[in-house]
Amino acid sequence: MTYRSVSDRLADTPRVHDAIMAAAAAARGVGDPRAMTHSWLFTGPPGSGRSTTAKAFAAALVCTDAEVVGCGRCKGCLDAFADAHTDIVHVVPKELVIHVEAMRDIVHQAARLPTVANWRVIIIDDADRFTEQAADAFLKTVEEPPARTVIILSAPSTDPEDFSQTLRSRCRHLYIPAPSTEEIVRILTEEEGATLPDAQLAAATSLRHIGRARLLVKNKDVQARRAQAINLAELVFHGDQAFQAVGTLIAAAKKESVSAYAAADEQEREKLAQALGVGARGKGAAKALRGSEASISELEARQKKRGTRRNRDVLDLTLVDLAGVYRDAMVLKSGAEVGLTHPDFEGLSAEIASKVSLEGLVACQDAIVTCRESLDQNVQPTIAFNGMLGRIRKACNVK
Ligand SMILES: [Zn+2]
Repeated sequence: MTYRSVSDRLADTPRVHDAIMAAAAAARGVGDPRAMTHSWLFTGPPGSGRSTTAKAFAAALVCTDAEVVGCGRCKGCLDAFADAHTDIVHVVPKELVIHVEAMRDIVHQAARLPTVANWRVIIIDDADRFTEQAADAFLKTVEEPPARTVIILSAPSTDPEDFSQTLRSRCRHLYIPAPSTEEIVRILTEEEGATLPDAQLAAATSLRHIGRARLLVKNKDVQARRAQAINLAELVFHGDQAFQAVGTLIAAAKKESVSAYAAADEQEREKLAQALGVGARGKGAAKALRGSEASISELEARQKKRGTRRNRDVLDLTLVDLAGVYRDAMVLKSGAEVGLTHPDFEGLSAEIASKVSLEGLVACQDAIVTCRESLDQNVQPTIAFNGMLGRIRKACNVK
């Protein structure tokens, strides 16, 4: 096993590296004390690795090596990287919003003293999902964190305006940029065992989104759906075929959003059933069971809602893939010296570039943007996609 220190792990993003290493040193009483603060807000584009960066920061804080801050070898560091350190609470919300009830639990967690490390670290992913009430409930904790607690809020945005204004003003803001293509290739090959060509393709195609790049090298459903999305751009030139393909594509998106989480959903149901003592016999069991049925159907309703959101996310990625084709066609047409989004489909984008005017390509991109907006407004996917294909055909001069 090769060990990587916190400093190595952050090397890809120098500004982030320097801010975090200085803060972690200051937390030990080394260097400029102003480098450290208790409440942080990490923002950055989706997939930029905010969560990994937060974990690396947490590791540097709980590291027990006397010499190297965030050594990467001690139990503190290893537990932190594995999300298994007793003094690090990592909240990963699964719901669309974080309600005030969940927030009370987080406030309680933040108030406790660390047990083995010098610091207690609370990491909250997707903190842009706080309800107003939840943000208010958290305000005091962020404003005056307990003496040994560090809070890291993380929000998938390039614009801190998206985030609760009052909370934001009380945190130190750190922007986490998307990892470089080289870094994604390194992670996929060194840490995930992907081959170099697969990793390079995934890095280019994922638009430097690490989670998506990971799925692209591993998950067959994701690979198939991507190819289908790109293929739409070709089918547009073949009569009604594109419209027929949309049905298949939407079904594939549904399958992808279900398959990625089916196991987790099942586990969650089982856990709840166990906690409620479902299946128990004897006195009072029947009565307890009546109450638990309600809890289980509530969980199932929540899982269904989550499924809808995931499905929408997958459809959105489909549109991002399709947009990549027209973007590549524009790149080829203009002769710009930049990498293609889908290097493995260069033939298709070259063909489109030769057939469609620049204005036409812009209109194709517009059609995709409109479709994304329609999905956001809960328009039926088939209707939104068909409308988009109609516009793209027109833009491509298909009779
Ligand atoms: Zn360490």
